[in-house]
Amino acid sequence: MEVKLIAHTPEPDIIAAVAAMLTHSKSTFEELKNEGKEKLKNVLRAVIEMGHTSVVEHAYFTFEISGVSRALTHQLVRHRIASYSQQSQRYVKQEMKYVTPPSVRKKYGEKYEKMMEEIWNFYNEMKDELPIEDARYILPNATCSSLIVSMNARSLLNFFELRCCLHAQWEIRMLAWKMLKLVRKVAPTIFAKAGPPCKTRHECPMGKKSCRWYPK
Ligand SMILES: Cc1cc2nc3c(=O)[nH]c(=O)nc-3n(C[C@H](O)[C@H](O)[C@H](O)COP(=O)(O)OP(=O)(O)OC[C@H]3O[C@@H](n4cnc5c(N)ncnc54)[C@H](O)[C@@H]3O)c2cc1C
Repeated sequence: MEVKLIAHTPEPDIIAAVAAMLTHSKSTFEELKNEGKEKLKNVLRAVIEMGHTSVVEHAYFTFEISGVSRALTHQLVRHRIASYSQQSQRYVKQEMKYVTPPSVRKKYGEKYEKMMEEIWNFYNEMKDELPIEDARYILPNATCSSLIVSMNARSLLNFFELRCCLHAQWEIRMLAWKMLKLVRKVAPTIFAKAGPPCKTRHECPMGKKSCRWYPK
């Protein structure tokens, strides 16, 4: 899996902080921006704490994601408050690239690889005779995909809450933590308390059910 933060709003913490301050001020953007970084960040922290997270919608982040399975991307695109451009299996011939879950590798590694080879042999045979949009029906959930995703910070906070959680599936959880690490570098205040609710709020909406992260 490869994840890159390829673009983002400049100074995301500052933009969001100024947006928050502007709601209670007669000053202009430029005037508020010069209030001093510490003050701006304190305001932003307080506003996020209060749950007024609409101000972080002004900050956008764009990721390039590759080497992930279609099983993952199917879950990812359920997050509607985002923009996606995904490699098409209708127009791009699919090379034999697939994800192997660690549990499968451990128990069925060889059998799984053999099956993948069989599937791709059949795919390659069909794609020479048929439209590739039809040949692709034989491809598995494990098939690798790549996409560009843009999300605003509010949507990312929701995404991290749901997908950094131990209840999320392992592959999308891995992606979520990688994305969180990247955005924290450029927007440390917005994402200071991002992540699963057990780590951020010491509570679990799922209850204490079988989760080793739940605070003891
Ligand atoms: C552990 C886990 C297990 C899951 N299992 C399943 C499953 O078995 N089956 C399944 O189908 N899905 C499943 N999902 C997907 C889940 O139901 C959501 O579709 C997905 O997580 C996207 O979340 P979201 O709607 O909050 O995000 P977004 O679509 O990005 O929406 C963000 C927020 O915007 C608001 N919003 C967006 N659209 C609307 C709308 N139309 N009306 C009102 N408010 C809106 C909501 O407040 C929402 O939280 C699972 C998710 C997780 C994390």
